[in-house]
Amino acid sequence: MEYREFGTSIDWGPSALGFGAMRLPTDDGDVDRERTIRMIRTAIDRGVNYVDTAWPYHDGESERVVGEALDDGYRDQVNLATKMPSWELETRADLDEYFEKQLDRLGTDHVECYLLHALNHEYWETYQGIDIFEWIEDRQAAGDIDHIGFSFHDDRDLFEEIVDAYDWDFCQIQYNYLDQEYQAGRAGLEYAAERGLGVVIMEPLRGGMLATDLPDPVREAFEAADADRSPVEWALQWLWDQPEVSTVLSGMSTLEQVRENVEIAANSGVGQFSTDDHTIVERARERFEELMAVDCTGCDYCTPCPTGVEIPRNFDLYNRIEMGDDPNAIVAEYEDMDESARADACVACGECEPACPQHLEIISLLEETHERIQSASA
Ligand code: SF4
Ligand code: SF4
Repeated sequence: MEYREFGTSIDWGPSALGFGAMRLPTDDGDVDRERTIRMIRTAIDRGVNYVDTAWPYHDGESERVVGEALDDGYRDQVNLATKMPSWELETRADLDEYFEKQLDRLGTDHVECYLLHALNHEYWETYQGIDIFEWIEDRQAAGDIDHIGFSFHDDRDLFEEIVDAYDWDFCQIQYNYLDQEYQAGRAGLEYAAERGLGVVIMEPLRGGMLATDLPDPVREAFEAADADRSPVEWALQWLWDQPEVSTVLSGMSTLEQVRENVEIAANSGVGQFSTDDHTIVERARERFEELMAVDCTGCDYCTPCPTGVEIPRNFDLYNRIEMGDDPNAIVAEYEDMDESARADACVACGECEPACPQHLEIISLLEETHERIQSASA
């Protein structure tokens, strides 16, 4: 697998593919530890050297199971990345408290990569009020953190302001062929790379939307190509063809996905895409945009809902109807859901909306979702 440079001064060469531990396999709601450990170790055995987790993933279980997966000699083979829960912070002491707990969960005494999680206007202001740069310098001087970065969910102006505010090693942005103008976007990618930051890509498959069950118009756009690639391969190679991209994080949930992604990564690199290939992806993007109802990535940051509404699942059903899935099957799936999980169980408490990195108006979109599914059953 290719190892890509992070800027010009960093020589730690993250692998083109990173393992994102945010959508791990579960069993009765709990992380399936055995399957997860096997997946992470298989990825590392095949060349992945970047493993990414965060405080809230799987309610903390992700950090713990990643720590277990890195026992038995695997820890030394990876750049381990985790993230400070920005939304939990009030004082500088909180930084130390969360960081120490994370090291404990991960079973390590340092991390190669540490990110301020999900920066937006509000969290950026919080960090500035608690001397974040001094804290970073102290932790780096103590050898607790090698490389410092941030993940980002807000507008491009803020992205550029944050890039310019500190001597970051890297950043993490949402970017895929549907999200070229969204948040940091393509312009943000170039901005960061020009200033020497490595750029880690999250949501390369937009929560799976670009991977499976493509709507007919999108599938037909790809079938018109000379190149024979799977949808996942189109989406990932499109990213790896861009020299500004350092590492593409994939939130893998099965061993099969690990094997498929590793195989694609093994053939990745700048120059793999022809002009025609770029035209094909552009057509697929246009077809998607014509069809999509809700810009939900399935990230789950909005859950759990106190009344039990399965927010991303409802939006997925809505999108699938608009993209041409069998409406009867969608209606049946909706009716099979627990009543408290359906869109119309929302009591508009408003708890979920501030957590959504896509800034979706979840309450009104849930109403719309319910109405659309009801009309499909008529
Ligand atoms: S606004 Fe609706 S979906 Fe959101 S947390 Fe409250 S009840 Fe749940
Ligand atoms: S509604 Fe927002 S927070 Fe919830 S899964 Fe979708 S994108 Fe993520």
